Amino acid sequence: MKTARLTTGHEYPIGKILCIGRNYADHICELGNALPDAPVIFMKPASSIIDDGEEIVIPPYSSDCHHEAELALLIGIEGKNIPPEKALDHIIGYGVAIDLTLRDVQAGQKKKGLPWEIAKGFDTACPLSPFVPAGQVAKPQDLRIRLSVNGEPRQDGSTAMMIHSVAAIISYMSGIFTLEPGDVILTGTPAGVGPITSGDRIIAEITGVGSLTVTVR
Ligand code: MG
Repeated sequence: MKTARLTTGHEYPIGKILCIGRNYADHICELGNALPDAPVIFMKPASSIIDDGEEIVIPPYSSDCHHEAELALLIGIEGKNIPPEKALDHIIGYGVAIDLTLRDVQAGQKKKGLPWEIAKGFDTACPLSPFVPAGQVAKPQDLRIRLSVNGEPRQDGSTAMMIHSVAAIISYMSGIFTLEPGDVILTGTPAGVGPITSGDRIIAEITGVGSLTVTVR
């Protein structure tokens, strides 16, 4: 059983991992995607999580695995149809995640109109840091988010650039899925995504939230 760890030591068994795609305009542009009318939602299984310091294993059916640094939310209080003004009350912690994506496989699935799980939900596809208590993050919509590969800066954005805010994402998702304690939400990635390969060392960090270091087997 995978667990989400708060920096206070509390642990939560992980429920579902809900993700939003295309949530930063600069990232939509770099992939040549259209601005979506409604939020693009997908899921990763809890089995895809690895902890800080662990290894990514790129599946043999891909030769183009991309990093996507993202702000992660840990849900602490159950909710359904949560209004945006109450949404932040449901978050118990903030963390750093990498939404690993097999870009070549995802492109093939999109072309055929098929689901993305094999590109997004494979084992090790979700490196996840410990979560800092929500009370320690005063401005979740004003956090610097960065990722480097072997010391080379790749992503450097701000959660201020989200199209759908943290509160809007929670409100929207909770109209579809009951949010439960232990659920994790990934909030999208800024521009600068790119490939990782065997031996790479990846560091993702969000100022005031934490950092995550993983390597590629
Ligand atoms: Mg993503």
